Amino acid sequence: MSESSFTISDDWNALYIDGEWVEPGDRDELGVENPATRERVTTVPAGTEDDVDRAYDAAVAAQSAWADRPADERAEVIERAGELLDDHRDDILEALAVESGSANTKAFAEWQTARGMVDHAVGFADDLTTETSDSMIPGKTNEVQRIPKGVVTVISPWNFPFNLSMRAVAPALAAGNAVVLKPASPTPVTGGLLLARIFEEAGLPDGVLNVVTGRGSDIGDAIAGHPDADVMAFTGSTEVGKRVASKAAENLALPAMELGGNNPFVVTEDADLDAAVDSAVFGSFLHQGQICISINRHLVHESLYDEYVERLAERAEALPVGDPRDRENVVGPVIDESQRDQMLAYVEETVEAGATLETGGGHEDLYVEPTVLSDATNDMAAACNEHFGPIAPVIPFSDEEEAVELANDTEYGLAAAVHSGDLDRARDIADRIEAGMVHVNDQPINEEPHVPFGGLKDSGIGRYDGREIFEEVTTTKWVSVQEETREYPF
Ligand code: NAP
Repeated sequence: MSESSFTISDDWNALYIDGEWVEPGDRDELGVENPATRERVTTVPAGTEDDVDRAYDAAVAAQSAWADRPADERAEVIERAGELLDDHRDDILEALAVESGSANTKAFAEWQTARGMVDHAVGFADDLTTETSDSMIPGKTNEVQRIPKGVVTVISPWNFPFNLSMRAVAPALAAGNAVVLKPASPTPVTGGLLLARIFEEAGLPDGVLNVVTGRGSDIGDAIAGHPDADVMAFTGSTEVGKRVASKAAENLALPAMELGGNNPFVVTEDADLDAAVDSAVFGSFLHQGQICISINRHLVHESLYDEYVERLAERAEALPVGDPRDRENVVGPVIDESQRDQMLAYVEETVEAGATLETGGGHEDLYVEPTVLSDATNDMAAACNEHFGPIAPVIPFSDEEEAVELANDTEYGLAAAVHSGDLDRARDIADRIEAGMVHVNDQPINEEPHVPFGGLKDSGIGRYDGREIFEEVTTTKWVSVQEETREYPF
């Protein structure tokens, strides 16, 4: 391993356990491909169950000394990590372009959110406070201490790898926990090893952060079901999340689950059509629609429907598609063949079921054309599934009751947006949509480090960001002191 480098072109072929960069040795290796060019970016070790055990051993051994460090020392390490994000911003943007197919707008938004999250986490370092409270028992004093949970496991997906790892890792570390992090296999650097490098350089003690690369299908159960995990911070699909949560629950590790979505975008009859279409284009096609909070379904009042479809299709067709390293390009490649084939199959099935393909539907290698489908209904494949692609099924509705009914007709409840010329009407619809996050006169792709983020229904359990993430990675300890002899009834 080369020393202190942050660029994607460096050698990343190692695990990071107990402060050591562990080379693959006789382990299998996993290739990482640039989806834009199909060139090999790097290889990383396929971590084993023994590696998982070693990572937890290191975390357990390092945690209490880290928690005992004065708050300002923990804060300093997190602050220094933030400065490294600034110093190496361009390296991080490049790595996100090459490893996850992120166009510049998305890569920058990802860096910026992660940067904000690190800043937000600094404040958690001195939030491990003790509060006193009165007692019902004469002569007793109660103290409630806020303490770290212990070992936080983080499993993250490939679509926003840097931010989705950082938004769990930074608060967990700031609050005195140790971390075992498993990044997704397509993005082991931006979702894992790069964070290890940043915190190593920032002065985090050995063992406090450990990164094990490897396939979820091989080591996922060992990580999720490890008896030393106290919190299971998982971001990914609902299907895998349910399995991970049940494994974690076997050991009573708290499942903090950020899962899939099927996010409706409602446009009422009095909406500003220009503004609604601007939001729709961004919310559907940013990062090729591969965001848990992307617009999955467009629900549009029948009076605006034809014009909306026409304008959306025109705008979709005009989007520059190509290698994200060319800053002109807005739409990059999707992550791999299996994702591509799945989303194209949804489009095909939707057209077979009677929808009209207004534009798109094709692909060149991993570049899927921005696609607009009209005459769609809620039960068609591109609408009722989380398509996770640059695909916009547009569904008409005739009144607000129907809009809300359609919006809620999904097992998910992550994010939504409503466009309307009447804010009271929009607020009313927002209140009736079953989602953890609803945005008025905007689109659903929003994340702000100080505001709680998460879903209802099958979209997850718990919240990231805000004060909520601090509460998930910490707990309380009640210490009472009986200062006068207590009188018992028997
Ligand atoms: P995924 O297939 O569920 O994988 C997520 C992570 O879980 C990866 O690191 C994966 O590793 C790992 N994994 C796979 N099988 C596992 C197992 N049996 N035990 C433990 N871990 C296992 O999701 P994805 O395809 O990477 O990401 C897309 C999904 O994430 C979408 O559904 C999206 O909505 C969701 N997501 C949700 C949010 C949110 O905040 N709610 C944010 C972003 C994405 P491998 O890569 O090695 O398989």
